[in-house]
Amino acid sequence: NNEKVNGPIAGSVTRGKESGWDDNIGYFIKKRLSVWCRLPNGKWDLGKIEETLGDEATISLLSGTVVKVSTAELLPANPDILEGVDDLMQLSYLNEPSVLHNIKHRYAQDLIYSKAGPVLIAVNPFKEIPIYGNEILTSYKQKAKDSPHVYAIADAAYNEMMRDEKNQSIILSGESGAGKTETAKYVMQYLAALGCGNDSMGYEILQTNFILQAFGNAKTSRNNNSSRFGKLIEIHFTASGKIHGAKIQTFLLEKSRVVQLANDERSYHIFYQLCAGAPSTLRDRLNLRMASEYKYLNQSECLVVDGVDDGMEFHKLVDALDVVQICKEDQEQAFAMLAAVLWLGNISFQVIDNENHVEVFTNEAVENAARLINCRAQDLMLALSTHKIQAGNDFIAKKLTMQKAIDRRDALAKFIYTRLFEWLVVQINKSVKVGELSTGRSISILDIYGFESFKNNSFEQFCINYANERLQQHFNRHLFKLEQEEYEEDGIDWTKVDFEDNQECLNLFEKKPLGGRAFGVCHYAGEVAYDTNGFLEKNRDPMHSEFIHLLSSSGCQLPKPASLSCQSGGLESSMQSVATKFKSQLFKLMHQLEKTTPHFIRCIKPNAKQFPGLYEDDLVSQQLQCCGVLEVVRISRYGYPTRMTHQEFAGRYGFLLKETNLSWDPLSMSVAILKKINFLPDMYEVGCTKVYLRMGQIERLEEQRKQFL
Ligand code: ADP
Ligand code: MG
Repeated sequence: NNEKVNGPIAGSVTRGKESGWDDNIGYFIKKRLSVWCRLPNGKWDLGKIEETLGDEATISLLSGTVVKVSTAELLPANPDILEGVDDLMQLSYLNEPSVLHNIKHRYAQDLIYSKAGPVLIAVNPFKEIPIYGNEILTSYKQKAKDSPHVYAIADAAYNEMMRDEKNQSIILSGESGAGKTETAKYVMQYLAALGCGNDSMGYEILQTNFILQAFGNAKTSRNNNSSRFGKLIEIHFTASGKIHGAKIQTFLLEKSRVVQLANDERSYHIFYQLCAGAPSTLRDRLNLRMASEYKYLNQSECLVVDGVDDGMEFHKLVDALDVVQICKEDQEQAFAMLAAVLWLGNISFQVIDNENHVEVFTNEAVENAARLINCRAQDLMLALSTHKIQAGNDFIAKKLTMQKAIDRRDALAKFIYTRLFEWLVVQINKSVKVGELSTGRSISILDIYGFESFKNNSFEQFCINYANERLQQHFNRHLFKLEQEEYEEDGIDWTKVDFEDNQECLNLFEKKPLGGRAFGVCHYAGEVAYDTNGFLEKNRDPMHSEFIHLLSSSGCQLPKPASLSCQSGGLESSMQSVATKFKSQLFKLMHQLEKTTPHFIRCIKPNAKQFPGLYEDDLVSQQLQCCGVLEVVRISRYGYPTRMTHQEFAGRYGFLLKETNLSWDPLSMSVAILKKINFLPDMYEVGCTKVYLRMGQIERLEEQRKQFL
């Protein structure tokens, strides 16, 4: 019984998609059996076996059509009583069509949440459904409701924290647009409602979402409000369970977006909000134009987002900045930096010799940028078009070529923006700081980018996927442990399932040098080919000494490197490579998470169009595999997916016993039923509180019950 679980959770290097689902029908084949049948168009349809002859089966589909298919195209379907169950663990058969059908069946009724054992699956509805707000929140709080819901997860985390005095974490994953950030907001909403006294801390913490979203979210082709950074928010509670502060950490802000946009995508929301919403006095002071006049914004021919009024959002943002007590001067300073970035983008260069060396065009862009940064236009022009080299004891300024100068300009814009973002996080943290009363009790919510695999995968994907690989390891280790603990607690014989985790894949990232122009990594979620072009530059993240000099001698306050005591360590950390910095951030994060009891939420995007009511089987299937729900499924395949208390079991199947002895307790009755139906000894276990059945066994009982009724 000591089986190695192969397939997606095993050996990260050999993971294959096809091995993901339970696909063995073999011994199930018999007449009238309900099956999923894969039709030539690749779709699964429900039917019944009429006849089998060798490898061929005749199936009558629900629609009435009769088809002949190979038995390799069949998978067992679940009995009707299991249609649309809350928890996928209750399914007898955990094959792909069964799981997809179950989630789809629920989704069609706006039941967007389901459980896969301890994991919450959340399918993005892309429309408002009336399942949030105070009334519903209260019914979860009072345990009047217990159907799967994000509130139920938040409630469980809160109660476990209070009961066990152990810190908790809620880990959200899923691809871009799947609903991680929205779901995280509902978690925070629940905790704020639960744990808020008279003070405004809960409200203040909710407002930080809005600010970080303005500066760190953008419209992409996949999500109109895509977070371009990872975030861990640690919410702290007093001994009586009231929120009294928070700590926010951010990871890997996508800085290239500040200067370069793909078609139909936007830069960070804040730029458009500022351009649309700044009052006229501020516009004058910052020499602000419309968004359409800035190259960094107009390059992608996408300036507005459907249904969003950027001007209004700006006013909400200013309110939120007030709530977290960022003073008006600092606010204006931050806006000046944004305007400086925009004007930098309008700076252009002219070639001055036949070696393609350039000088900065003297125009309003350079004048405005310099004024906003608070340095002399001359100094800015030099910093953008020359680089200093040492000759003996002297430094001489050497002119840059066109591409180098453009890169230099963009690097400065990115540098200012990331410093501004880091500064903002520091300010927010000051405002929601955990006070003296700290008990150390906390719930951390982690919302980072999901696994990414595009046509071209570069350094950014490399870092993101490395982070996801780490989280997946955390997930696997935790779930295996949890499952085994439950069996052991109920006193049943459970030979431990040995699992290979993805350490091997992680080693690739952490230890082995990777050579060549391209390389592939078999992640838990599939294989990704990385292109090493530009890797080193992105990793080095050059911060030119000229910038440091320029900004530290300028009168501007915010992005001055030395004044920034951001959590990543200011100036010193910028000497480290991006990957080294990220790796140590990640190690710290994992270390932090390992000290908590985790709760996992896997967000699923049912279609790529962001449409309500559209559920694409293939897309969902692929995400279920990628985001590790499959792991849970596989664990139960090797365990006992059916668990019923002795009472439930005896109550439902007691009819099987002709002569029931009324004095029997549920346990004796359960044992008698199991004997009667002649289950093979390793197909079931009887624990202290529950009966455990292997995959497919409950179906036999249900069939008998149907005949009996
Ligand atoms: P992610 O953070 O995973 O990229 P988001 O949380 O930003 O995705 O969700 C993308 C969009 O999907 C949201 O802007 C919202 O329109 C919609 N959405 C997500 N979750 C819900 C929900 N529970 N109810 C309604 N709409 C949702
Ligand atoms: Mg997000």
